[in-house]
Amino acid sequence: MGLRIHFVVDPHVFYGIAIFCLVALVRASITDPGRLPENPKIPHGEREFWELCNKCNLMRPKRSHHCSRCGHCVRRMDHHCPWINNCVGEDNHWLFLQLCFYTELLTSYALMFSFCHYYYFLPLKKRNLDLFVVRHELAIMRLAAFMGITMLVGITGLFYTQLIGIITDTTSIEKMSNCCEEISRPRKPWQQTFSEVFGTRWKILWFIPFRQRQPLRVPYHFANHV
Ligand SMILES: [Zn+2]
Ligand SMILES: [Zn+2]
Repeated sequence: MGLRIHFVVDPHVFYGIAIFCLVALVRASITDPGRLPENPKIPHGEREFWELCNKCNLMRPKRSHHCSRCGHCVRRMDHHCPWINNCVGEDNHWLFLQLCFYTELLTSYALMFSFCHYYYFLPLKKRNLDLFVVRHELAIMRLAAFMGITMLVGITGLFYTQLIGIITDTTSIEKMSNCCEEISRPRKPWQQTFSEVFGTRWKILWFIPFRQRQPLRVPYHFANHV
């Protein structure tokens, strides 16, 4: 029990999560979200699942969307994220999910540390509040707790909608355009939809941002066109 608590409050665990979070952030913002080439090679027999974009006049698979901010089409686009200054599409959606997950974990950790510091390890409230160091430590801790709560509430909402979107195999854009009607598409098991987003069936790899995503054999637009 003691060992387990020691592991949980070990700052190295915190640093580890922070590194995973930063790698997911950097990679989600610099990875190509799934931009289409000028002259895409449309596989034989898939033509009926492609369409012409009326904004850039290029052929694209169905479920693609034209991002007006970036000025090009993105395969299976979910949304344009101003926080990572990039589109979230087929090729970086998995990194965006990892970013949400590790931000959740990191803010929970920061809040737990602040709480322990205040009440448990070196109870700040019982120390001499006239001391310059204690007053400023307290102020920084309150700021960290405030930011932690704000981030946790915001990211929890976003992460929840993202997870529901993947389980139901619907992008945020599709959800907005079909707000009132059910999208008619065969339901797939959640393991399948997550595997398609993360590009692997190995669940442990879903949490690792240091790897290359390999698209699964069945392309989305072929398997489940709208
Ligand atoms: Zn376009
Ligand atoms: Zn964009």
